[in-house]
Amino acid sequence: MTLNVLIVDDSPVMRSFVKRVLKMSGLETGLLLEAGDGKQALAVMQEHPMDLVLTDINMPEMNGEQLLRTLQADAVLRKTPVVVVSTDARLDRVDQMMSLGASGYVTKPFTPEGLRHEVERVLGVAHV
Ligand SMILES: [Mg+2]
Repeated sequence: MTLNVLIVDDSPVMRSFVKRVLKMSGLETGLLLEAGDGKQALAVMQEHPMDLVLTDINMPEMNGEQLLRTLQADAVLRKTPVVVVSTDARLDRVDQMMSLGASGYVTKPFTPEGLRHEVERVLGVAHV
């Protein structure tokens, strides 16, 4: 299964890092698209069906929380699994994002193995 992934982060450096780690993870990736905030992410998702969204929380315009709320309100887009990628490791923060509709959570910094493990768990498959 080839994964089309949307990477959402306001930091271009972090987007490049996530992209590189994804490629090193052993996950079979297809389209790797980027967005700098939630609004851009929604625009990309309207054009390209994604298999997975990896999103930061703190971003201008539309943050990760608002992105999750907006996706959940959309009958089609809510089906795309979202994994939050954040430096915030507090359990109440993780719980909050999961209750808003996130399927997974990865804490920065993370390893290729850590990312792969969480993506596979979210997608419910042993080998992607
Ligand atoms: Mg940020």
